[in-house]
Amino acid sequence: MKKPGTLKTLALVLILVVLLPALFYSGYELTTLTRSEELIGSIYEKQLDVILTSVNQYAWDITGGWANQLGIIVGEQRNRSEDSLRLRCKLFLATKLDMKALALSDTSFRSTILLKNGSGADSASLTEVMQCLKANNDKIQRLLRYRQAEYRKIEPIPIGSRMGLTYIAEQASGLPLIVTMVIDEDAFIRDVLAMKLQETAGAEFVVAVFRENADRPVTATSPVAVNELKQKKALWIFPQSFVGIRLKGSTVEELVHSRFSRNFILIIVMDVVLAIGAWIVYRSIRKEMELVRLKSDFVSNVSHELRTPLALIRMHAETLEMGRLKTEEKKKEYYATILQETERLTRLINNILNFSRMEAGRKEYHKRPSQLNDLISAVLETYGTQMESEGFHPLVALHPALPEITIDPESVTEALINILDNAMKYSKMEKYLRIATGTDSDHVFIEVEDHGVGIAPKHQEKIFETFYRVSDSLVHDTKGSGLGLALVKHIMDAHQGKVIVKSELRRGSIFRLEFPAGATRS
Ligand code: ADP
Repeated sequence: MKKPGTLKTLALVLILVVLLPALFYSGYELTTLTRSEELIGSIYEKQLDVILTSVNQYAWDITGGWANQLGIIVGEQRNRSEDSLRLRCKLFLATKLDMKALALSDTSFRSTILLKNGSGADSASLTEVMQCLKANNDKIQRLLRYRQAEYRKIEPIPIGSRMGLTYIAEQASGLPLIVTMVIDEDAFIRDVLAMKLQETAGAEFVVAVFRENADRPVTATSPVAVNELKQKKALWIFPQSFVGIRLKGSTVEELVHSRFSRNFILIIVMDVVLAIGAWIVYRSIRKEMELVRLKSDFVSNVSHELRTPLALIRMHAETLEMGRLKTEEKKKEYYATILQETERLTRLINNILNFSRMEAGRKEYHKRPSQLNDLISAVLETYGTQMESEGFHPLVALHPALPEITIDPESVTEALINILDNAMKYSKMEKYLRIATGTDSDHVFIEVEDHGVGIAPKHQEKIFETFYRVSDSLVHDTKGSGLGLALVKHIMDAHQGKVIVKSELRRGSIFRLEFPAGATRS
């Protein structure tokens, strides 16, 4: 029993050589995976940031361009009347549909003009604009300081529901002029920014502009809700609106996550495959070792099986030869034993020979219509005496109208003898033996029952394997080759039949050889 130790070493080696490296590798892969996922994530974020900045920049450029044009109009005003300024501004306004009005004012808010676009019905009044500008005087003062530094900045100043983009222009006289472009924010976003959004979004992104606290976008390249946005950035010119972006279809997280899950699953599958592989290797080696053990047991069992009858035969023959036996009766008894032991030897050798024929696929079956009842009677005739000498008085219950079936009678006899042999071998205490034949709708069968040691459920399937012997204490002393039931099974398979065992430990067993009633008739 040194094998379990070897098996443990084998399992350990497999774990060390196959599983541990696989697990280490998987662990390593998983950590690098997380790191590269994070990296990819951050690259995406930067990309989104660039897109958002470019939208902002675009809005800035457009309004900056407008401011430039106005700056030129205002700057060229020398020697021209105020009417001409109004006219030129009106002309400029007429081309800017989203600019609802234009307010011009000196820095003291005394000389002020408000030019409305079109009918101007929906634009703010001059008073309202001036109030808002005055209210944001700090911003105006800052703009003036910027101007002194020769830097022009546009400051968004809310005017009612509009946005007053305010900056300082220079008049021909050199005096500063506060210019406020009153913009319809939503219209500007829809008319001017929408195109840019479409351009930057391309096929991969959804870009949208939302008003603060609004659920629905002012404009969007594809339908999107505010909570689905991945990145948000306030618009520089409209601080109360923001541009939001997300990937079309799935967000960065979803993409990264699905990539991560896919890789993770692959690694797990790889580990599982490796584990299964290691397990299969372990199992097949274990089986191989088990077979080696069974074979070596077989050799020692067979040697023992051969030695016992040979010793008996020799002893009895010697006694007879020496003429020590006085009575004829005694002599007969000795001759009978010699005969019995020779038959046992023959059976054992037949089993081994048949087994090797089966292994080589050379076992031939010569089938012919036969009667199982006759076959049993013949067996009882041959072995009856031996059975009785071993203390068995079989109960025989043969079915009176058993149909004939097509079998190889020699092989089936051999199977039956093996079953009977076992029944006697494993019933040392209660010598009960019942042999019966019977039939049901589909089968014809022989049953052999004993009240012997029985077979535990876990062994009941394995006993039909070659060399398999139950090695518990109940059967420990009973020698055998482990071939008998393997042969029986082989024979029954060749007849498209079955060998069925019903057994209970310490109670006994019933072995049934079951032949198909119809199929074998042919
Ligand atoms: P063996 O030469 O060991 O009898 P078999 O192939 O005939 O080999 O049987 C395999 C094993 O099945 C036996 O070792 C025994 O443990 C068990 N077995 C077979 N028949 C019986 C039975 N009638 N009662 C109890 N155990 C049995």
